[in-house]
Amino acid sequence: MGDKIRTTQSPGSNSLWDPIETMDPEQRSALIWQRIQQQVMYVWDHSPFYRRKWTDAGFVLGDLKTWNDFERLPVTTKEDLRRDQEEYPPFGSNLCVSPSEIYHIHGTSGTTGRPTVFAWTKEDWDFMADSHARVMWSFGLRPTDRVFIGSVFSLYIGAWGALAGVERLGAQAFPFGAGQQGQTDRAIDWMRSLKPTAFYGTPSYAVYLAERARRRAIDPREFGIRILFFSGEPGAGIPTTKKLIEEQFGGICIDSGSMAEATPWMSNSECEHRTGMHLWEDLVYTEVVDGISHRKVPFGHEGTPLYTHVFRRAQPIVRMFSGDLTRWTNELCPCGRTYPRLPRGIYGRLDDMVTVRGANVYPSQVETVLGEFPELSHEFRMVVDREGALDQLTILVESQPSRPEGMDRKLAERLKAALGIRAEVQILYPGTLERTEFKARRVIDKRGGN
Ligand SMILES: [Zn+2]
Repeated sequence: MGDKIRTTQSPGSNSLWDPIETMDPEQRSALIWQRIQQQVMYVWDHSPFYRRKWTDAGFVLGDLKTWNDFERLPVTTKEDLRRDQEEYPPFGSNLCVSPSEIYHIHGTSGTTGRPTVFAWTKEDWDFMADSHARVMWSFGLRPTDRVFIGSVFSLYIGAWGALAGVERLGAQAFPFGAGQQGQTDRAIDWMRSLKPTAFYGTPSYAVYLAERARRRAIDPREFGIRILFFSGEPGAGIPTTKKLIEEQFGGICIDSGSMAEATPWMSNSECEHRTGMHLWEDLVYTEVVDGISHRKVPFGHEGTPLYTHVFRRAQPIVRMFSGDLTRWTNELCPCGRTYPRLPRGIYGRLDDMVTVRGANVYPSQVETVLGEFPELSHEFRMVVDREGALDQLTILVESQPSRPEGMDRKLAERLKAALGIRAEVQILYPGTLERTEFKARRVIDKRGGN
């Protein structure tokens, strides 16, 4: 567990980092339960935010005797944290340490509304580094690797979390960053000369990078990258995108990531077998629950992940509502790890789902279909509009003018089969749609006020 991880040394080349990974789930659950009890007690004692929240829900600490009691604790939403920080600026009333103990300050990317501020103590940071190193080990990263971090170093915790893990593992950190004008071309030049063996970023950026390299007549396989790992977007878990990235770079594509609030965010991550993300529940305890009742759904069912820190000093979260959509299973992975698994990763969000003529449509569904058409670039937009009383869905894609005959019709048919509704297809010239080095925003809803 937390304390144990900190003292564990890197194992021999093929063994597990920690035997807890393949432990009987019941036994592991008992160990996690001990940590959760300590953590909830800590939170009760140090977080006015949670004490208020739980007291309002009629919970007193003495009530926490079983997992069942834990599952009755109310969920925490991003909105709860944002409102609390507005009321108790700047860190909110969930800051459980004195400000002098803060080691790092980060924040949400601030795409919607007021940004949220995150604080870490040194201990929290070390726990993240240890956790991420352990997960990186499971997908084959070794101290001999040179890791190119092609992600923005800013308040966003993604790049920093990757860097901390790489440093802890003892691999070579190559913190290149992203997001500056002309940086993609420089990234390509640096990769050609420095030959990193691993890459971290967002999947849409990796796809763009490969596209950009090819435009310069450079084969991305030339870089010699054997592992590409990702977070921030679902792409690395979408089979067609995964395949595309693996073909373009000639390395394996690893999906990972939970949410910034739940950092160590690599507690959701694939192993080298790429069978969907394992839930490393002894790093961050994760339940997949029904979106309304917030009770666990059975294995095999769809729900949204809730995250609880098993170790966090500065701003712990308990039963944090992600709003992501996934399906979980307890079927074993060839690696032997007994963690629950998300076979299709996180494939949508409750809030970027758009409802078009009564059908729920996700960008990941469109991405999957587009992946079947090698003539198309990987970029797309979904535009929802209303004509009279009728919703219209238009999918904007890009292809060379010399596309195969009948492709437009075939694409429209495949989309209809996958989405359950008819969508208009507009094929644009390559490069028309804006590329991003961060998170791609694919849905444009023009209906407003519905
Ligand atoms: Zn596995």
